[in-house]
Amino acid sequence: MHMQRISAIISVLFLVAIASCSRTSIQEGVSFELAQKRGEQVSGITYNLTFNIPANIEQDITGTVDILFNLESKSDVVLDFRNNSDDAILGVWKNEKTIKYYFENGHIVIPKRCLSTGNNSITIEFTSASGSLNRSQDFLYTLLVPDRASTVFPCFNQPDLKAQFILSLSIPAKWIALSNGKTDSIQYINNDIKSVFFAKTKPISTYLFAFAAGNFRVETKTVLGKTFSLYHRETDTEKLNRNLPTLFNLHAQSLTWLEEYTGIEYPFNKLDFILIPGFQYSGMEHPGAIYYRDSRLLLDSNPSPTQKLQQANLIAHELAHQWFGNLVTMKWFNDVWLKEVFAGFMADLIVNPQYPDIDHDLSFLLSHFPRSYSVDRTKGANPIVQSLDNMLNAGTLYGDIIYHKSPIMMRQLEQIMGKNAFREGVREYLNVYSMGNAAWDDLVSVLNKHTDNELVEWAHIWTKETGRPMVGYSYSVSESQVNLNPLDSTPTPPMWLEVSSAKMGTKSIWVDKIPLSFAVENLNNEEELLVNSSGMAYGCFVPNNLTAESIRKQVDGIRSPTARASFHIALYELLLDGKIAVNDYIKLIVQQVAKEEESQIVTYLLGQINTVFWRFTDDQIREELSEDIEKMLWKMLQNAKTLEQKKPILTCLTSVFITNETFTRLYSAWISQSVQGVSLSEKERTNLAYQLMIRKPELYHTIALGEIERINNPDRVAQFEFTLRAISPNLSERIAFFESLKSVSNRKPEPWVTEALYWLHHPLRSDFSVRFIEPSLDLLPEIQSTGDIFFPKSWLDATLWGHSSEDAYSIVTQWIELNNLSPNLRQKLLQSADMLFRVNGLK
Ligand SMILES: [Zn+2]
Repeated sequence: MHMQRISAIISVLFLVAIASCSRTSIQEGVSFELAQKRGEQVSGITYNLTFNIPANIEQDITGTVDILFNLESKSDVVLDFRNNSDDAILGVWKNEKTIKYYFENGHIVIPKRCLSTGNNSITIEFTSASGSLNRSQDFLYTLLVPDRASTVFPCFNQPDLKAQFILSLSIPAKWIALSNGKTDSIQYINNDIKSVFFAKTKPISTYLFAFAAGNFRVETKTVLGKTFSLYHRETDTEKLNRNLPTLFNLHAQSLTWLEEYTGIEYPFNKLDFILIPGFQYSGMEHPGAIYYRDSRLLLDSNPSPTQKLQQANLIAHELAHQWFGNLVTMKWFNDVWLKEVFAGFMADLIVNPQYPDIDHDLSFLLSHFPRSYSVDRTKGANPIVQSLDNMLNAGTLYGDIIYHKSPIMMRQLEQIMGKNAFREGVREYLNVYSMGNAAWDDLVSVLNKHTDNELVEWAHIWTKETGRPMVGYSYSVSESQVNLNPLDSTPTPPMWLEVSSAKMGTKSIWVDKIPLSFAVENLNNEEELLVNSSGMAYGCFVPNNLTAESIRKQVDGIRSPTARASFHIALYELLLDGKIAVNDYIKLIVQQVAKEEESQIVTYLLGQINTVFWRFTDDQIREELSEDIEKMLWKMLQNAKTLEQKKPILTCLTSVFITNETFTRLYSAWISQSVQGVSLSEKERTNLAYQLMIRKPELYHTIALGEIERINNPDRVAQFEFTLRAISPNLSERIAFFESLKSVSNRKPEPWVTEALYWLHHPLRSDFSVRFIEPSLDLLPEIQSTGDIFFPKSWLDATLWGHSSEDAYSIVTQWIELNNLSPNLRQKLLQSADMLFRVNGLK
């Protein structure tokens, strides 16, 4: 790698030497300035692409591209091509004549003397860099979001330069392939190689261009008049057949719903989807060729309603992107959050009515607020709208604020505008910017026309400020008045706040500043009043002068599940701010979980037990707590009536147990694959195997062999064996595993790495693994430049989750002081290390 860089520099120097005209230097990546300038100069782009894909993964993938484009006025044209290999550009032609070009910092510069105003066509032969081709022995897939298209072929790599693609792939004859366009024809070159030709696509951004090829099987079905093909590698036919009809139905239902809601027919020519083992994300919305991680869609037998809802929600999310993101795309990647919030919002609208038995307000509350606060409470909190200087940093924009705070804002927006006006505004936005690009401000000005409220200022505060507000309240009986007072300096965004009591019912209060006082109908005392009873206001609302006793009384008295969940979320924030003692908190939630009847809150509280047990206690306190907690969980497991109730209890027990008694119970559960009426799915059994091996290293070999024998898919056996190296009782094997991660080729598939790191840093192993923290942080900038978008944060989370010691604390704080990270990466580190900081602050 180092050698390649040096030779690339030499070749640049050589090209500079032969260049005949002077020029200013071009930054690496696509800077905002370059994107703006190019956006004005270039339009009407078509890429006519051919790739030669050999079966042997040691051999390079080469390709040819004809780039047709329109040039506004005669000027140099800068193409992006990031391959560090010095001979990656095999030739550049115009009308079959070789032209002299410059190569600088990942850009091919075509001098203006070779170009004309109006139509131009440039041909380039190249070798693709391997980083974003995700090659395995018998398949590969491109993943080019956000800025990786230019590592695979020369292009204008910015979201507002949409282009039409004409693709052909030369692949091993036994493989099949899919891409954004329809398969037009297939030609066999010889017995071993064939060419697959795809039809021209609609205009799409470069980050959405995709192809996958390999040893896949394909199933095609027509539902509700829509035809879909599903590509997969699943060998468990029972599992496949169980899931297939649902998958086709869900795609058809979501598609039909979206056409109805938006008033716009599905905007692309065809829709296929592919299930990829070890895929980096849950899903990726490439137009016409959606990718999914196989395990997210192929559910084990007896899935819970929540798992089914998540499966449906993921499909609806990726389909919503076909309109929100693919049809109308952000101008610049700083607005990437907008397509995500729309996809999430639409997915809820589509899927929730199909599950009338689930309390969706409660589900929204529990899935978005805690995760939004998990970032917004930290010193690394970022606003919804972040600035982006260069596409190279686009991956660092993603995170929990985009996925969890923006839906909360969107829900407030719909409440302010009303459902119908909101829908009309969204339809206008999609029509005005169809097949083009729009920024957040463009959306706000369209929506503003559909409401009497002033949205510009409102939007500014929600999208540009950070922080999770803590608000105290008190009730004055004599004045019939509620007083809200700030508990810290975090600004409160303008929003609706619901308050309720049995006598008064529910009342909505517009909150645009705090302190604030408002009247309520006569109450006898403060305890009758629920502030933020719907849970939808952003921030934690807690009575002033809380004590452990008053908390217990208060929470016992709240009947509404959303109000109760909202109160629990606020209590956890108080714990993290050091305003409730750890012991009081644990006792409270252990008591509460045993009597809670709403299953979603039970699941939330079980998660809290797990978090507090591992992150806020040490070995001694765990010893003291474990017997009671395990007894309580075992009893809950026995008493729970349905599988849906039993599963989260078992997950919690499996995660927190340390006594021998529970070990024996769970070891026999692993052998018999069932416990207390729950039969374990393969995933649950494998997870249990890891937990058992961590606790009793002497059984490592027995359990590992037993598990390998029972996993019934080669891709999953490979993943299991990968993780084993991080769990091994042999310390030098664990060190060797970590050392291997220093090489980029060993850091794939990324979800495997994240999972293995999770076990490597398990709290029961943290005394040993603390040594890996510093080298892991050293690798961070490289992880960002070579890994996919969620990898830096998941790398950090998996590295730090198991540590609460002072040693770990000082390693991280000193490292931050000594190293000059880019601002966005620094934020990620401060987010991931927040719990470690807090726990040490509380000591
Ligand atoms: Zn998305």
